[in-house]
Amino acid sequence: MTDRYAVIGNPIKHSLSPLIHKAFALQTGEDISYERILCELDTFEETVDKFFLKGGKGLNVTLPFKHDAFYLSKRKSDFASKAEAVNTITRKDNIFFGDNTDGVGLIRDLCINNQLSLVGCNILLIGAGGAAKGIVHPLLKENPKKLTITNRTLQRAVDLAHLSNDDRVNGCDFDDLNEMKFDIVINATSVSLTGDSISIPDNCLSKNSWVYDMMYSNKPTGFMEWGIRNGADKVLNGFGMLVEQAAQSFLIWRGVLPNTNVILSKSNSFLK
Ligand code: NAP
Repeated sequence: MTDRYAVIGNPIKHSLSPLIHKAFALQTGEDISYERILCELDTFEETVDKFFLKGGKGLNVTLPFKHDAFYLSKRKSDFASKAEAVNTITRKDNIFFGDNTDGVGLIRDLCINNQLSLVGCNILLIGAGGAAKGIVHPLLKENPKKLTITNRTLQRAVDLAHLSNDDRVNGCDFDDLNEMKFDIVINATSVSLTGDSISIPDNCLSKNSWVYDMMYSNKPTGFMEWGIRNGADKVLNGFGMLVEQAAQSFLIWRGVLPNTNVILSKSNSFLK
């Protein structure tokens, strides 16, 4: 019988996860279906319960529910525990198991697909929501020199820095970035979804800096255009991360790691 999987979030229409998981299923011969679930903001727990009661096998969780998914999961992987955010749920013996594959997905995209070494780097992470939480610990495992976290709501950046329990990390306000330069600037806010912009200083980039928007689209996002305008060496969107984190979820659920290159080489047909 076909095993049922889904991605749950709000909004959810833009999600490419169904296309990616269907391509993985085709490639690996796994018999799965994968759908989108639009969840009202106050019905996360009951919607998840209903999905698994009806025989669902696994869920990906996207904004704004990664924190809710963390609290719903009775058992968690190390990455999910450190992040206090869950993007992959499985049910084993009637217990929800939560994992977080966002960080591994980002690191694989930066360091394997794009051959960047983060060792000794000065990193700026913008955002302190579910996605940002998932990548802090995996970024630190790559031995950067410093990780600065900034966010519209300053307190959330400070709390996330504190959660990392690592003295290479600090949280600060957008205004405090004026005198700083970064090797890589990562946008983990949802501004590219809403079309808003972020007011970080132009001069925090140098000609060797990389700019990474975790949002993906068929044309440069506003944040990517900011990187191009300010002379970044390389400007990337989050499609590679999306595909890599999906492959890690697929591995958790099916025990098979799909070949991501097959999809990465056809990004244009996914991002149309
Ligand atoms: P979230 O938990 O809702 O967090 C949203 C973040 O964006 C918060 O830090 C929020 O700041 C900030 N923000 C929202 N509107 C803003 C504005 N107008 N100006 C400045 N900051 C603003 O969402 P999430 O789950 O972290 O997702 C964030 C983004 O990452 C989304 O675009 C999502 O698609 C992307 N993502 C991509 C991948 C991938 O695989 N490529 C994986 C995960 C997430 P406040 O704290 O001040 O509200």
